[in-house]
Amino acid sequence: MQLAQRVAHMTGDGPDGWEILFRAREMIAAGEAVLNLTIGEPDIKTAPEILEAMHQSAMAGATGYSGIQGIEPLRAEIAARVTARTGVPTSPAQVIVTPGGQAGLYAAHQVLLDAGQTGLCIDPHYPTYPGTIRAAGGLVRAVPAAAEAGFQPDPAALARAARESGARTLLINSPNNPTGALYSRETLEAIAEVCIAQDLWLISDEVYDTQVWEGTHISPRALPGMAERTVVLGSLSKSHAMTGSRIGWIVAPEPVIAALHALNINTTYGLPGFIQEAALFALRQGPAFEAQVAEPFHRRRDLACRVLANNPALRVSSASGAMYVMADIRATGMSGEAFARKLLAEEKIALMPGESFGASSAGHLRIALTLADDQLEIALTRLADFARRQLG
Ligand code: PLP
Repeated sequence: MQLAQRVAHMTGDGPDGWEILFRAREMIAAGEAVLNLTIGEPDIKTAPEILEAMHQSAMAGATGYSGIQGIEPLRAEIAARVTARTGVPTSPAQVIVTPGGQAGLYAAHQVLLDAGQTGLCIDPHYPTYPGTIRAAGGLVRAVPAAAEAGFQPDPAALARAARESGARTLLINSPNNPTGALYSRETLEAIAEVCIAQDLWLISDEVYDTQVWEGTHISPRALPGMAERTVVLGSLSKSHAMTGSRIGWIVAPEPVIAALHALNINTTYGLPGFIQEAALFALRQGPAFEAQVAEPFHRRRDLACRVLANNPALRVSSASGAMYVMADIRATGMSGEAFARKLLAEEKIALMPGESFGASSAGHLRIALTLADDQLEIALTRLADFARRQLG
């Protein structure tokens, strides 16, 4: 029996970039003490009061079909949050609730990109981005953002790529995974200009919007002329440590929401009511709660910058936001992959090679700040010593 080709086409047949993570998991399962800095998941658990809200909601009967677009109070809360944070008046009709940011990325491309059309993204990128574009039958064109430019996208290169390919969509992510870069106002204004000139939909992945250490997060939807062509993805995974609840949202113009609604009828058929009510409770805790969830990553970012400073083998190249630090190890002459493999074998420290995220972060390492501070300090100190030894 043969399978359809769709999924194989989506994933491609090369390595998927997660090899170090899988190897680390095998070592952990075999009882080895691996310090794991690979995974972008908050190490704290969902707060008990959010779980209590979830429990109470389920016990009160929110266990049936809950509607396709998401419950109205949650959409109203999301709309109010987006309005307050961006200054763009947003109504519940412009919001649809999704089972996490990843499902939002998938759904957005399904409704904005036709088969054979080009979807642009930035290299380096979150590893699922190309597959998500291919899942819609789209052709992927990843436009480099150079380490030397702090991983800020190059608007001229974006305009050229859009023109040459006749692209329909552009997917960006700030604060950025894997680089920790926060796109500046100047970068975002130039991106907006390209989108307007080339008639692109902008898909703005803002799942790290509560994790900003330097500068200000700007949603490109707030820039002039952009609300009608921007689709924003949000998620409670990182902001509220709710990865397992699988809950996020899309904010978009109403015709896009109508298409997403039609897609949901044929896919998710909506989300569990008790998860949505827990998300509503979580969002109602307000910015102070979000700051509390984000704080350990800020502290650990400072810790990483301190421990990795003044090292001739390794340089922290960007870390303005999100729960990652990117380190440039090109001085060692090694690829990120070779370095990460050797580090795991010799020091039992797992982190992601930059190559997992695209060619522009080759020769780099992505360090996820998801270990407790004392463990993180041990891992980073050993990493710094190991890097020095690679200089010979
Ligand atoms: N977008 C980016 C940039 C991410 O890093 C992640 C998860 O790590 C996601 C989207 C998906 O997150 P979730 O589906 O848990 O909301």
